[in-house]
Amino acid sequence: MSQDNATLFPLFADLRGRRVLVVGGGAVARRKLEPLLAAGARVVVGAPWLEPSVMELFAQGRIEHLAGAFEPAWLDDAWLVVAATDDGDVNRAVADAAQARRIWANVVDDLALSSYQSPARIERGPLQIAISSGGGAPMLARHLREKFETELDESLADLANLLLRERGRIRARHPRLAERRRFFETLLAGPVAERFRAGDADGAKLAFEAALGEAPPSRDIGSVALVGAGPGDPGLLTLRALRLLNQADVILHDRLVSPGVLALARRDADFIEVGKQAANHHVSQDGIHALMLEHARAGRRVVRLKGGDPFVFGRGGEELEFLHAHGIGFEVVPGITAALACAAYAGVPLTHRDHAQSVRFVTAHCKDSLDSLDWRALAQEKQTLAVYMGVAGLAGFRDRLLAHGREAGTPFALVENGSRPEQRVITGTLADLPSLAAHHAVQSPALLILGEVAALAMPLHWFGAAPLGAPAARVAEAA
Ligand code: SAH
Repeated sequence: MSQDNATLFPLFADLRGRRVLVVGGGAVARRKLEPLLAAGARVVVGAPWLEPSVMELFAQGRIEHLAGAFEPAWLDDAWLVVAATDDGDVNRAVADAAQARRIWANVVDDLALSSYQSPARIERGPLQIAISSGGGAPMLARHLREKFETELDESLADLANLLLRERGRIRARHPRLAERRRFFETLLAGPVAERFRAGDADGAKLAFEAALGEAPPSRDIGSVALVGAGPGDPGLLTLRALRLLNQADVILHDRLVSPGVLALARRDADFIEVGKQAANHHVSQDGIHALMLEHARAGRRVVRLKGGDPFVFGRGGEELEFLHAHGIGFEVVPGITAALACAAYAGVPLTHRDHAQSVRFVTAHCKDSLDSLDWRALAQEKQTLAVYMGVAGLAGFRDRLLAHGREAGTPFALVENGSRPEQRVITGTLADLPSLAAHHAVQSPALLILGEVAALAMPLHWFGAAPLGAPAARVAEAA
């Protein structure tokens, strides 16, 4: 039926109140029913029997049922037909009858018999993307569908609904097409979409009214997304982080953000590294604030990308306070913090019914931070410490814990470059922590997990190279 080399003609059909016949009452037919019902079609299922879930739709009055064997008269008044039986002869009879009456027919899994095909679809409310490979490579279409699913924010549904509702007013305000196009362009890049993403429908409506010129602008233009990039493995990014990275005009990122993550961001974004090294401060915190302000005020989509989670030892709080004080809108996307990632990738559960009832996230980057910690509380047993720290402070850390009563034999796992291909895990006991770290020349970034649970690093190791320990400990392990 289909001509070689001809491309299919795409169309979106209005099926509301129109009769659609589905021949077949089994699982295959079942999958075809939901989208037809969602489109408002009057669905008639013709089949000798209905499987239970189809029967339920019938009992609910959502579909009609023609019982018995297929007859062409079933097609009377139908606009569209789907043949979804497992009997090739029946499917062919349906296709032939439809052809004779010029009714569009889809025969499930039969390209040659079908006069139309259903595309792979992505839905965001009234917004739909339909993908076809002409029937030749449904896997390719499905692959693209997955890609769009991950990239398109769910809040696009709200945006599309708003535009649908307001199309009359938009037309009246901007009768000329060129003007209207400009209006849409600014609308889609600006605060309306951003407010919807932030789950703030009222804010989106206000921003829309402002854009339409019927309410004063409620806020400065421009906004910043504070985004957690996770510990390094790009697979640990959230979908939301990925979407924002794809839309960003400017990305202000820390040195800790891995190249693999940056490679996923929009290619023609401006990448500005603002990372700090312990001693050598690239861009001061004030400098970072000034950059965020400058780019947001210029109306650019700014992503402030931080290693791990922005609110865990990341100064995310300070940056938001600054933005708030300057009337710049913001959103926050959490990331997998180093403690969670290093624990997972080292096979060390942070809590465990037998070994640890609590976990503390501690930072110990310099002497001042060591002095201000509550060592008595930190030295308690059956608790896990996840210590974000420079490797230089390990001896001081051990000495204070020992002085406050933590057992010298408490196990630790020191995770260097957690979740990255070059990850190393050093294991041992508290007494030997500084010497083992020095022996293996551990470098930053490294996270210390201290507590009874760390003993599980050896048996539960699954990622990368096996844990390293003291040479003697390895012999004991092998015996
Ligand atoms: N906001 C970040 C932490 C910033 S502080 C987060 O939530 O993870 C920087 C410290 O985090 C480093 O000194 C190190 O202790 C730890 N760290 C970050 N990434 C790490 C990684 N991939 N492996 C081990 N430690 C890491």
